[in-house]
Amino acid sequence: MALFDPKAKVISNYQRSIDERTSSIRKYYDEIGKLYYDQYKDMNVDNTKDINTRCEAITRLSNEIEDYKLKILFERGLKKCPNCGTENSLEYGFCFKCGSKFDEESSKEPKTDFEKAEEAVEEAAEAVEEKAEEASSEASEAPAEEEKKDEE
Ligand SMILES: [Zn+2]
Repeated sequence: MALFDPKAKVISNYQRSIDERTSSIRKYYDEIGKLYYDQYKDMNVDNTKDINTRCEAITRLSNEIEDYKLKILFERGLKKCPNCGTENSLEYGFCFKCGSKFDEESSKEPKTDFEKAEEAVEEAAEAVEEKAEEASSEASEAPAEEEKKDEE
């Protein structure tokens, strides 16, 4: 039953993320239009910076939307051919339409840039922790040697 399908809930969450971003993009387009017009009307106005910030935001949001679309596909057991864009079953090694080879990563869950950034932060934190552990084990070794000297 679709109603109790946990995947349906995950997909609808992704869809909501897409909808939110779509409406933000629409809002930014409107604002850019107004900023540009104000600049056109009054030569003393320079809105370049405000316009650029919004353009950058639109690019970022569009990329995030693409990421969420791929995640929805994944939940449906599908992946997109990087060559022709055709939707293929996750387990396919080659695109059934154009024959392009899929890499191994293609059957894994796609990650958004935000998730990748979070992972990078976690990895960096782990690396720092490991270094700290190494440093503390080195530090605890040093006094042990001194104790030996005392014994001699
Ligand atoms: Zn293809």
